[in-house]
Amino acid sequence: MSSGPVLRAIGLRKVYGDFVAVDRVDLEINRGEILGLLGPNGAGKTTTISMMVGLVPPTSGDLIVEGRSVRRDPIWVRSRVGLVPDNPGFYDGMTAWENLWITARLNGVKDESRIEDVISRVGLSGWEDVEVGKFSRGMKQRLGIADALLKSPSVLLLDEPTAGLDPSGSDQFLKLIRSLADEEKLAVLMSSHLLHQVEWVCDRVAIMDRGRIVAQGTLDQLVGRKYYVEMELDGNVDAAVRSLLSVGKVSVDGRRVTIEAEEDVRRKAVEVALRAGAVPVEVKVRRAGLAEVYRNLLRAGS
Ligand code: ATP
Repeated sequence: MSSGPVLRAIGLRKVYGDFVAVDRVDLEINRGEILGLLGPNGAGKTTTISMMVGLVPPTSGDLIVEGRSVRRDPIWVRSRVGLVPDNPGFYDGMTAWENLWITARLNGVKDESRIEDVISRVGLSGWEDVEVGKFSRGMKQRLGIADALLKSPSVLLLDEPTAGLDPSGSDQFLKLIRSLADEEKLAVLMSSHLLHQVEWVCDRVAIMDRGRIVAQGTLDQLVGRKYYVEMELDGNVDAAVRSLLSVGKVSVDGRRVTIEAEEDVRRKAVEVALRAGAVPVEVKVRRAGLAEVYRNLLRAGS
């Protein structure tokens, strides 16, 4: 396998008539990395994923997988990219094994033991001979991963994979995706509306709005190291506020004072307030999260 990113989208663009659905998207995903793709409805996430898996031809731009271009080697690129759609379609009247056997045949996978391997990899051992119509939504999603893994791809694309799963089903599913990135070194792209899940499982995040990538980076790069210490003060609030300026950026709302800093400055803030003659009766700290960055970016763009 070539060094560098497993998948690179370069200026990927999709135009329907005069509507630009995806506008010059540049993305990279490395081996063993999970990239979260966020954005409001209609931002262009599904269209981007569809272009990456060869379902929708790009209007312009290119997709490079393991160094080979989808324009020059479309069939080879498709064989390296596995897709898990938001609602994987299976034949309900057939068993899990039979469904995967069809996918194996369609993908030229001749070794039938591979079917057992992927079923076991997604934690469905014992269910291979059960009709898929009897599977829960979470089990169907797992089977969707097994289906995508059959051809031993280097890239896994998941479109809103946890939509409709209950919290414990979502947790198990995200742990499975994490383990595929960590253990099999798959490059994973996952679109989602659930910021806390993206924050929990993804190494990097790309935020899309109206077809464009408006921000991209690790959580630390996007969110920054920003802490807010919120205190309610009794006593000499004005003197405390003046002293607290040495601790961080201060904003005041009556007796409530918020200090913004690059670390958790609770202890220092309490000491400074007490010395200035104010007693903190309540102290809380919170760290800025993806939700804040997401809201600010989309607000700035509207
Ligand atoms: P959601 O979060 O709702 O799934 P999304 O970010 O996945 O949204 P897309 O499904 O990629 O967004 O759609 C992007 C835009 O492109 C939408 O405005 C959609 O209406 C438009 N679009 C998608 N497919 C077509 C098509 N075949 N013809 C015309 N417009 C399309």
